Amino acid sequence: MSGEAVALSSVLLDLKRWARQRQRAGRKHVHFEAMSVDAAPAVLPKRAGAPSIDAAAALAILERERVVGCTRCKLHGSRKNTVFGVGNPMASLLVVGEAPGRDEDSQGEPFVGAAGQLLNKILAAIGFAREEVYIANILKCRPPNNRDPEPEEVAACLPNLLEQLEIIRPKIILALGRVAAQNLLETSAPLGRLRNKVHAYRDIPLMVTYHPAALLRNAQYKRPTWDDVQKLRELHDKLVRG
Ligand code: SF4
Repeated sequence: MSGEAVALSSVLLDLKRWARQRQRAGRKHVHFEAMSVDAAPAVLPKRAGAPSIDAAAALAILERERVVGCTRCKLHGSRKNTVFGVGNPMASLLVVGEAPGRDEDSQGEPFVGAAGQLLNKILAAIGFAREEVYIANILKCRPPNNRDPEPEEVAACLPNLLEQLEIIRPKIILALGRVAAQNLLETSAPLGRLRNKVHAYRDIPLMVTYHPAALLRNAQYKRPTWDDVQKLRELHDKLVRG
């Protein structure tokens, strides 16, 4: 059995154990499909229809089993902490940045420090509390000196974000900055051409705006960012209303 399969097997066993505990505690609506490791998909079990597993528990297991201690790319050697993600496990809005910076690496949480505070304000301006959305990065470890992620690092780490996406199942994604947008959309188009459009990532609508760190350096980005997030809120509300 491959190392990947062993890790997935461990995740599935944890989920089954957790489901049995919930059933013993009298929770009637716990469903967990039997799944052999060989037949297991590349992502955690889907929460199709009625949720079959608790999203918070699934995220915690994913973080513990697949991210903390991960050595799939060279960034593991220089990180202080992995930075998995934070927020509402059932969020309708998923905010995605490129990678942790120095403050995030120190604290193990995405978007802390000045850029994080600005993100909180941007979210608040369109009526979202930080706790209401889910915030994550493409890379879970900090690239040295905050350089751009390398393609092999993105390839190694992106499956973690895909699994987060599968668990959270947001209605819409907001990509912050050129690097996040280009990597998610697999394009080299400049940020200016990616804004003002509704893209799709794994069939989920995705919109693009400036990274808060860029706003801190360039005040002229504030107005277009405000325009972007207002449009995002409008589309979000339509999607939530169905
Ligand atoms: S960046 Fe991602 S793939 Fe690379 S070591 Fe960290 S968690 Fe693993």
